[in-house]
Amino acid sequence: MLKLFGYLLKQGVATSGDYCAPLAEGVIGLPKFTDEVCAGTSCGACQTECPTQAINVTESDGKPDVTLDLGSCIGCAVCVRTCPTGTIANDNRTKVASDTRLDLIVSSTSKRTTSSNTTPQGIFERSIAARVVSTGCSACDLEIGACNNAIFDMERFGIHIVASPRFADVLLVTGPVPKAMHSALKSCYEAMAEPRIVIAVGTCAISGGVHKNGYTEANGVDKILPVDAYIPGCPPHPWSIIDGIRNVMKRK
Ligand code: SF4
Ligand code: SF4
Repeated sequence: MLKLFGYLLKQGVATSGDYCAPLAEGVIGLPKFTDEVCAGTSCGACQTECPTQAINVTESDGKPDVTLDLGSCIGCAVCVRTCPTGTIANDNRTKVASDTRLDLIVSSTSKRTTSSNTTPQGIFERSIAARVVSTGCSACDLEIGACNNAIFDMERFGIHIVASPRFADVLLVTGPVPKAMHSALKSCYEAMAEPRIVIAVGTCAISGGVHKNGYTEANGVDKILPVDAYIPGCPPHPWSIIDGIRNVMKRK
């Protein structure tokens, strides 16, 4: 036992006080736009190579514009590696949650960034109970699990995972929500007392990700339930998940 304590002390692992700390050097996050000018449709490499059709390159009056749907992006970094002009780069931010689907669509010319509600007046401001429904590969579920470890410790923010929708204020949905899960997910939602909140956690839950428009009709949770917040990433970082939940806790 002493050996174990000695090992843990040596690692220096402690609950992180650095809220939404950036990703460590070399860790791949979501892409972002830089100030470097895109080469336009004559290049189009990012659009061609993106495996989830998250990028669209257009030109207007000879000026290139690139739109990027962070809600479809799986963070593979292919566009970052492919872009010859450096217009697209790795984003090391973990504060990426958004209130609306539209806010996840960013453009190289307007540089719109994701936004979220920050008014601290919500009815769930002090605590919130969350029920998780997984419809996917479970990577997002592992990151939700990591939110409860000693480093992120989301209980300190009043966020508790509960086993039954009867006790839940918020429904965290992961995975692309295939047709086979529609009925179960709707039943879970209907079992929750109002006011109830739905958060799409991860790219699959937002848009279907790589499963989009496939035969399983797995196109994300907002096709069958009203969604209140979106947390992009494949999977999202624990800080992104905690921040996304805290944003809805602050809402009226
Ligand atoms: S990082 Fe996202 S936008 Fe870029 S190629 Fe991969 S999926 Fe597409
Ligand atoms: S963003 Fe980069 S890869 Fe995409 S079209 Fe412009 S120059 Fe080419």
